[in-house]
Amino acid sequence: MSVTKKKSRTNPKRENGKSNTIKLKFDTSWSYAPAPESKSAASIKPQYDLFINGEWQKPLSKKYFETFNPATEEKLSEVADAGSADVDKAVKAARNAYDNVWKKMVPKERAKYIFRIARMIQERARELAIIETLDGGKPIRESRDFDVPTAANHFFYYAGWADKLEYAFPNRKAVPLGVAGQIIPWNFPLLMAAWKIAPAIATGNTVVLKTAESTPLTALKLAEIIEESGLPPGVVNIITGAGETGAALVNHPGVDKIAFTGSTDVGKIIQRAIAGTHKKATLELGGKAANIIFDDAPIDQAVEGVINGIYFNQGHVCCAGSRLYVQESIAKEVIRKLKDRMSSLIVGDPMDKNTDIGAINSRSQLETIQKYLKIGREEGAEMYESGCPLPGKGYWCRPTLFTNVAQSNRIAQEEIFGPVLSVLTFRTDDEVIEKANNSPYGLSAGVWTDKGSKIFNMTRRMRAGVIWANTFNKFDPSSPFGGYKESGFGREGGLHGLAAYVTLENV
Ligand code: ADP
Repeated sequence: MSVTKKKSRTNPKRENGKSNTIKLKFDTSWSYAPAPESKSAASIKPQYDLFINGEWQKPLSKKYFETFNPATEEKLSEVADAGSADVDKAVKAARNAYDNVWKKMVPKERAKYIFRIARMIQERARELAIIETLDGGKPIRESRDFDVPTAANHFFYYAGWADKLEYAFPNRKAVPLGVAGQIIPWNFPLLMAAWKIAPAIATGNTVVLKTAESTPLTALKLAEIIEESGLPPGVVNIITGAGETGAALVNHPGVDKIAFTGSTDVGKIIQRAIAGTHKKATLELGGKAANIIFDDAPIDQAVEGVINGIYFNQGHVCCAGSRLYVQESIAKEVIRKLKDRMSSLIVGDPMDKNTDIGAINSRSQLETIQKYLKIGREEGAEMYESGCPLPGKGYWCRPTLFTNVAQSNRIAQEEIFGPVLSVLTFRTDDEVIEKANNSPYGLSAGVWTDKGSKIFNMTRRMRAGVIWANTFNKFDPSSPFGGYKESGFGREGGLHGLAAYVTLENV
């Protein structure tokens, strides 16, 4: 690695006479030689079928669709497009495995399979990380250091609970629900599969999981791992397809529980679809997290946390800290430091270990982000974007920050799902609580302050499922995660995550 230290400073330039768009000079103080991860450790087949009943089955629909690398726009593979007959086959396989094998199995034996899957994820971590990055566009550093290890940890954590449910729910008998239909989004494809599958099978349920259409590959790799693990056929079925496949799963009468992570719009469709049925549901939907910095906070640490909170994974995170509230007395300093740090972030090849911000997941998501950048400018906010160079091909968005934002602006109210931060200011605790809670969402939030009492005061009054204090975007399998209001209901992770897959009966 060659490191060259050059003198530079952030130098705002107004672009094309547009008064409210300012491009910051790219800070090349630290320029690194390329350090690309090799693709050779990953094998991607040209075509994938559906993983049903422990076998790779051709889709009855006879249809396939392509999956692309968003950083190069190159085709990676094609995967089956499951139709309603395929969904039916998968649900029947799950039901058969539930009735005849899995619910009858001694919990200790179930745990062994789940531990084995966890270890196999660790063994194939490098391959999984590479494929996650190729298919989704996120930096390899993140897939390698966050997504894959956290996915393995979820399997380890829930494997540990499988034979200890009487301690998780003392004096109660935990009875599995049956067949779980699970639908996941494209932002954390392997990790979301782990979040969904591990607690479901640890509690004795069987599963049909549908991947997101733009990022199916790591879940299919997980299917290969599950096949090799010897898990009884039908306990976990993994199918691919788009919204129609998801809807067929939601509407299938043989499904007892829906676990969904995705947009609030689709969450509402699902809620309407299952109303009046026996199906239980957990919905983890959108967010517009408030990240709050008080004047007594360690500012450099807070700035780094805010940068991580919004630019991590290209802002493709439902709990991304997309609304920043800074106490007025320190606003100037914080905004200056944010701009400085933002203009040193490297956007580009996700396979390069130096990359901070990878590719936007799809063309349509890039268009959504660009639509909001336009809306923000039209609303009168001042837009700062980093001046970093972008690759010629692929879908990219520079880290962007808006100042002069009003609470009612759409960029402060709506989920953008990109590397776009809206900065607002406040004077008092009451004011910031009111502003932070003034959102249709309530998934996550952050508080930065030196005072423990203030943390407790704020977290008690804020309507968000997860609140980080003096840190952001930290996850652990033992911590529950989920939202209020239009961010959904139910919790994943920890004991709460187990409870969502059982009914508790008196012993
Ligand atoms: P995003 O807008 O972030 O892509 P979506 O909510 O559209 O989020 O997608 C999340 C998941 O929900 C994906 O797997 C997608 O295929 C699936 N999905 C989309 N529409 C429906 C639907 N009507 N019913 C069930 N699942 C759906």
